[in-house]
Amino acid sequence: MLQIYLKGHDNYYGIADVVRAFFGKTVEDRENGRVYCECAPDVTLTSVIEEGGISRCFSDDGKTDCKTTPVTDPVSVKREVKRSAYLAMVKVSGREIPWGCLTGIRPTLVAGEEDDPKELSDKYYVRPDKAELAVRTGRNEQRLLELVPPEDINIYVGIPFCPSRCEYCSFVSSDISHHMGRLPAYLDALEKEIKTVAPHLRRKVSTIYLGGGTPTVFDDDGFRRLMDIITDNIAITDNTEFTVEAGRPDTITEAKLRAMKDKGVKRICINPQTLNSGTLQKLNRRHTADDFRNVFRMAGETGFGIINTDLIAGLKYENDTDFIDSVKGIAELRPANVTIHTLYKKRRAAISAEDVLTEDDGRVDRAVSEGYRILEENGYIPYYMYRQKDTGHGLENTGFALPGTECLYNVAMMTDARDILSFGAGGMSKRVFGQEGNKFRVERCPCIKDVIGYMNGAEEMAARKIDFFDIM
Ligand code: SF4
Repeated sequence: MLQIYLKGHDNYYGIADVVRAFFGKTVEDRENGRVYCECAPDVTLTSVIEEGGISRCFSDDGKTDCKTTPVTDPVSVKREVKRSAYLAMVKVSGREIPWGCLTGIRPTLVAGEEDDPKELSDKYYVRPDKAELAVRTGRNEQRLLELVPPEDINIYVGIPFCPSRCEYCSFVSSDISHHMGRLPAYLDALEKEIKTVAPHLRRKVSTIYLGGGTPTVFDDDGFRRLMDIITDNIAITDNTEFTVEAGRPDTITEAKLRAMKDKGVKRICINPQTLNSGTLQKLNRRHTADDFRNVFRMAGETGFGIINTDLIAGLKYENDTDFIDSVKGIAELRPANVTIHTLYKKRRAAISAEDVLTEDDGRVDRAVSEGYRILEENGYIPYYMYRQKDTGHGLENTGFALPGTECLYNVAMMTDARDILSFGAGGMSKRVFGQEGNKFRVERCPCIKDVIGYMNGAEEMAARKIDFFDIM
């Protein structure tokens, strides 16, 4: 068991974050003044801030003794503690991790503050290629954010149902093979919520994102009704960016594509995750790579010029060659957007932590870098990025786009810089109040996650949002 005792500071959270990035689950044992991790080697360390702001993380036997010289004045104790803990973990584990001690979920936020890859590497030990990617992506985010007026509203509509549960998923979606009968009632509730809130909305709608789950999980009639509920109640103009995360190719039909086109949808997502059909089957996704190609072609023929495709790196059943083959196959199809996710352990996913947080000699890391290189060589630019807790292999998720086709909703949502009004179970509404540098003060208003609870409480949820946005 690895233990770090804290002396003279109380940054348990920061120490736990750094240790977890190397070894997995950690415990903040505040009663005994330590952070420990049972899946790490037997080492006992002390983390202390010494005179002059020097942060030190050391073992009594002298085998580990890592000190950092403060990189700014005044000293950020929180950051210095993480820096020395990071160096100590490098010593204990014998490896470095791509994002160094930058453990937060939005590296582009810090990259925006520094605006210099070298500063990111010096202050946080971020690997130079990741530092450069973060700074470039952060600049693109800021450029795109200016296209979303702060006085406008951005709308999310959530459909928490899927045709089957992908093995790696722990989203609050319900597998409809067990809940088919609930879809009409869910639409009733959604209609009630939207109809109650929408008349009070006097702000222009910049973007709408219909996500899930899988919004196309409905049959053709149900899907058309969903589109009607949205477009009959929310004022959509030619300038509104309207995106549907169609997601699973096994739910997309010509009639649904036509319904989206008729209602002004400009962008759709069709996500293969991998172009290896054997993997798709093992992941419990009920479609093949050819199903994806067919639907992708059909969407193009229906007139959708902007299609996003998601790929996942580090899938349990794949090696680096499978992933790179998928990236090459996607680049040949030339969708407007490609998003690369790195598999991470979600709390409720069927896949185990060991399947995700495995040592792999950096193969997934190299494969992701090669995937990025292929995309950039084909004209794609990185335009938004985020990380998740327990991201497998210490990596990140990055959205790429052909210039001019970037999804503004993604940028507004991920930067926490614009108001988001969410409808549907599990949605998170956000209201932005002020800005300090490139950080915003945000308040959040969650919607009940449980589908039955939501269906019974749609009116209450509507009232909560009217109150939250102060729009009565
Ligand atoms: S389609 Fe997405 S939300 Fe649905 S089960 Fe699969 S990963 Fe989860």
